[in-house]
Amino acid sequence: MTLHRFFLPARCFAADRVEFPAEAAHQIRRVLRLGAGDRIIALDGSGDEYVVRLDGDAPLTGTVESRRHNESEPALQLTLYVGLLKAAKLELVLQKGTEVGVARFVPVETARSVAREPGAARHARREAIIREAAEQSGRGRVPKLAATMALADAIDEAVAGGRAILLWERENAAQLGEMAPPVNEPFSLFVGPEGGFADDEVALARGSGVVTASLGRRILRAETAAIVAPALVLLRRADYMPVSH
Ligand code: SAH
Repeated sequence: MTLHRFFLPARCFAADRVEFPAEAAHQIRRVLRLGAGDRIIALDGSGDEYVVRLDGDAPLTGTVESRRHNESEPALQLTLYVGLLKAAKLELVLQKGTEVGVARFVPVETARSVAREPGAARHARREAIIREAAEQSGRGRVPKLAATMALADAIDEAVAGGRAILLWERENAAQLGEMAPPVNEPFSLFVGPEGGFADDEVALARGSGVVTASLGRRILRAETAAIVAPALVLLRRADYMPVSH
């Protein structure tokens, strides 16, 4: 049986005891209707996971039965820089990107972005979407969500940190699906907002050392491109070792 998974703050773990925060306790007891003797998997975000048997007290606690390394994290640390999309589309990208293995998301303000920087409540909602997708898909770490950055700063950061590729619908030579990404280096992808990148933005990226690449002859919507591009890179790698959940 697949056990339910919960990312918990590191402070919840002490020796072989786990104390669940109120929100997780509510989910476990009231929503999933689990109680004393039932098992769940707790993750502390370090890449390890713990099989925990519930004790059923209030506050809800559990006892660690075993600890193992999570085997489903991709070796490739991929950062997805994505044009600031409308809220629902960005949320879709965060959820699906987490499932396919993105390590870090950076919303980027570009010339044609229509959406604006979110308030604190929306940022928290986005982090919750990422955490839930990480739990559901069996990740060992919760991908990070960075604060929104200006495109020029995002380009500088990406180039300084490793290889960077910008997906551009007018690129007619380089195909993302045919490029060999490095295995253990940071790797960045840029996907534009709904209206695409402006020409001077593409020129700025290229001039800074970002390589442009195509996703094929059809124009994908920004949110589709932002899901497909990381999948093309991550799911081609030696990322298929069998995992028991
Ligand atoms: N320029 C168009 C399309 C923008 S598509 C317009 O004005 O409507 C939104 C983003 O998705 C682009 O900035 C690009 O990063 C990515 N994208 C979509 N289709 C693509 C393709 N075939 N190849 C490369 N990138 C693509």
